[in-house]
Amino acid sequence: MGGRLAGKTAIVTGAGSGIGRATAVRFAQEGASVIAAGLSEGLEDTAELCRATGATAIAVVADVSRAGSGEAILEAATRIPSCPNVLVNNVGIAGTTAVYDTTDDEFDRIVETNLKSILRISRPFLRLCRSQKMAASIVNISSVQGMLGFPNNASYAATKAGVIGLSRQMAHDCAAFDVRVNVVAPGIIETPRTEARLRDNAEFRKYSVQSTPLRRAGHADEVAAACLFLASDEASFITGQVLAVDGGASATVFRV
Ligand code: NAD
Repeated sequence: MGGRLAGKTAIVTGAGSGIGRATAVRFAQEGASVIAAGLSEGLEDTAELCRATGATAIAVVADVSRAGSGEAILEAATRIPSCPNVLVNNVGIAGTTAVYDTTDDEFDRIVETNLKSILRISRPFLRLCRSQKMAASIVNISSVQGMLGFPNNASYAATKAGVIGLSRQMAHDCAAFDVRVNVVAPGIIETPRTEARLRDNAEFRKYSVQSTPLRRAGHADEVAAACLFLASDEASFITGQVLAVDGGASATVFRV
C-alpha cells in the first residue's frame, strides 16, 4: 500500500489472529518493521504475512499475563536492528459472567491479561523511549464495553474501562518525552473470537446488529486502520483520546 509508517518499528501483541494480525499486516504494508508478539498459535503465520509485504518481521512468543513478559518481548525485539517506537497493546480475553457470579480467580485472570499486561509491556518500552530520547506512539485496545454496560461480562468491562483510565494517565505522564498514548475501542468485530457466535447464535447476531447503527459487525481491517492512523505521524497532535470503531454503537441509546 503506502509508507505511512515508513522507518517505524512496531510491537503488536496478540498478533496471532483477529485484530492483532490485521494490525500487524497493515503496519507492514505501510512500511513498518513488525514484532508480532503473543501466544504461539498463528504467530509465525502473521510474521510470514508481514514479510510477504516486503517488511522485516519476527514472531516473539510471550504470554503477556506473566511477569517479565514485557522485558522478554523488548529483549527479543533487539533481533531487529531498529528500536521499537510503536506499541499496540491488543491482547484481550473475554469473560462470561455477571458480577454476582464472578469469582476472584476469573477477575484476577482477566485483569492480568487485559490490563496489567499493558503496564508490563509499556513500562520497559517507555524506559527505552526515555533513554533513547525517542518519540513514540502507543495504541491500547479497549472496547465499547469499557464505556457502556453489556450483559454477563463484568470482569472484561472492568478491565476495558481500566484500559481507558490507564491510557489517559500514560498520555499525561509520557507527553513530556514525546510519547503519545491513545485508545481504540472496537464494537462488535468479526474475528476468530466472535465469528462462531455471530454465525451460529441467532440471538447474539441479532443483538449485535441491532445495537450497531451501521447494522453489521465490523472487520478487523477497520480496527487496524484506526490503529494505523493513531500510530502514524498523521496523529502527531493527538494523545489521551479514545477512538470508537463501533459502527456508531456508543453514539446512541437507541437500538434499531
Ligand atoms: P482474538 O481472540 O481473535 O485474538 C486475540 C489474540 O491474543 C490471539 O492471537 C491470542 O492467542 C492472543 N492472546 C490471548 N491471550 C494472550 C496472552 N496471555 N498472551 C499473549 N497473547 C495472548 O481476539 P480479537 O477479537 O482480535 O480481539 C483483539 C482485541 O480487541 C482484544 O483486546 C479484545 O478485547 C478487543 N475487542 C474485540 C472485539 C471483537 O468484537 N472482536 C470487540 C471489542 C474489543
